[in-house]
Amino acid sequence: ALNLKKIRKQFGDHEVLKQIDMQIKIGEVVSIIGPSGSGKTTLIRTINLLESLNGGEVVLFGEDFIKGGQKPNSKTVRQGLQRIGMVFQSFNLFPHKTALENIMLAPRYHGKPQDKEVNRNQALYLLDRVGLLAHADKYPHQLSGGQQQRVAIARTLALSPDIILFDEPTSALDPEMVGEVLKVIQDLAKEGMTLVIVTHEMDFALSVSDRVVMMEHGVVQADASPAEITNANSETPDLLRAKQFM
Ligand code: ATP
Repeated sequence: ALNLKKIRKQFGDHEVLKQIDMQIKIGEVVSIIGPSGSGKTTLIRTINLLESLNGGEVVLFGEDFIKGGQKPNSKTVRQGLQRIGMVFQSFNLFPHKTALENIMLAPRYHGKPQDKEVNRNQALYLLDRVGLLAHADKYPHQLSGGQQQRVAIARTLALSPDIILFDEPTSALDPEMVGEVLKVIQDLAKEGMTLVIVTHEMDFALSVSDRVVMMEHGVVQADASPAEITNANSETPDLLRAKQFM
């Protein structure tokens, strides 16, 4: 469903992604781990074209999104992008809008306007789903970081995406807030949603993922199931490296 082929990305002279190949199937949960600066965030941002590329292909839903680093400016790409949701480290909620309004605004903002009643009911349903119905009318500054991130996840769900990309969704949170956000992501995984998650939460990555991809210095060091990584030994040095990192 999602195919990255020989992806290359440079910032100046710094080669951040060196010929990355990665595939993600519909329904799969894939975590991307690795040391700071290894290119995880840059990689996930190539999926929804937030980064321009120096080479390679991004093929999503069977359609070319980028070929040879060039973006075909087509309707297919625009429609495809609407099927990809993203949750950022820093929530990015509108500060002057309530939790409910933030979610209600999302569909129209992304070119998917809804009937007013449907829009409101869906937003209330999604707030309930992330355990925040009682906080519908609060503004972001009245919510904890964990609550804000749960609103941000509900906002992404309001776009009915086929894939959700999470870019270090708990890195900006106080430790006591991390669990509540991971629980919401875990629920999405159980429901069969396709998820790509950049994370430093190793136990979570092992428990939630079908596959764990470890990046190091701009290359994929390991790409394996949690069981393969947990069982790694000296005969599988790449996997052992990932195990030791975790
Ligand atoms: P972390 O775990 O610390 O978030 P990461 O693995 O996600 O790290 P990236 O954020 O992808 O790493 O960054 C990879 C490298 O690219 C880093 O050296 C970073 O400084 C550099 N980089 C990222 N974005 C830019 C940019 N816009 N301009 C220049 N350099 C950048």
